[in-house]
Amino acid sequence: GATPVQNIGAYGVEIKDFIVNCTALDLNSGLEITFKNEDIKFGYRDSIFKNELKDKYFITSVTYRLYTSRELNMNYGSVKEEVKKLGEPSLKTVRQAIINIRNSKLPDHKILGNAGSFFKNPIVENKVAKNLIKQYPEIPTYDAEKGKTKLAAGWLIDQCGLKGYKMVSGAAVHEKQALVIINNGVQSGKHIADLAEFVAKTVHDKFGIALEPEVKIL
Ligand SMILES: Cc1cc2nc3c(=O)[nH]c(=O)nc-3n(C[C@H](O)[C@H](O)[C@H](O)COP(=O)(O)OP(=O)(O)OC[C@H]3O[C@@H](n4cnc5c(N)ncnc54)[C@H](O)[C@@H]3O)c2cc1C
Repeated sequence: GATPVQNIGAYGVEIKDFIVNCTALDLNSGLEITFKNEDIKFGYRDSIFKNELKDKYFITSVTYRLYTSRELNMNYGSVKEEVKKLGEPSLKTVRQAIINIRNSKLPDHKILGNAGSFFKNPIVENKVAKNLIKQYPEIPTYDAEKGKTKLAAGWLIDQCGLKGYKMVSGAAVHEKQALVIINNGVQSGKHIADLAEFVAKTVHDKFGIALEPEVKIL
């Protein structure tokens, strides 16, 4: 149910490219309707279910179309290098490479509470990205929609020296992946929100870029 809500994705691939349609129950009328892919208005970690239809529908089924062969997307992060270690590029080796990278960077939520990526990767106008590249030639950038560039929020946080940053409350930035905030014994959700606010402010002060939470804060 959450996949069309959030348009989940990782390593340059988004679920919107595989969803044919979904059925959902209108919580007012009780009627079930079908949303075609184009009706869902997918965006980066975004859909109609997070905007004009927020809290109005319960998704009851999703139809995915999967491919047995497809152009492999290995341009993200260290995927290419990891695939090389495993053999010839194929759906199987790319899948395993991404699992290996994630296992090496992401904390196990059964041991250390976390919500995965805490912030969205910011999407900025190309001219903003160009200015940043001038100042920081090593900054990772990715193509986004026309005229825009996607930046890596984790890199921005890391450059502020916040990877592994711990607050006395027990909220901390994960030491292997700066985009993940972990719960190391906090007493209240407010402690996580306080750290998130501090991280966003620090990144804004250094780069002038506003970080937006990917998680839903209740
Ligand atoms: C360790 C970790 C790593 C992660 N990595 C990634 C990643 O790489 N990429 C990424 O995109 N996300 C990532 N996430 C976030 C992940 O996408 C979400 O946690 C996941 O989609 C939530 O699925 P869920 O079934 O737990 O949904 P929930 O958290 O239960 O729900 C998510 C939202 O969808 C709504 N929802 C759920 N089901 C339905 C339904 N049937 N009908 C209507 N609304 C519904 C909920 O109300 C809520 O607003 C990660 C999370 C963790 C903990």
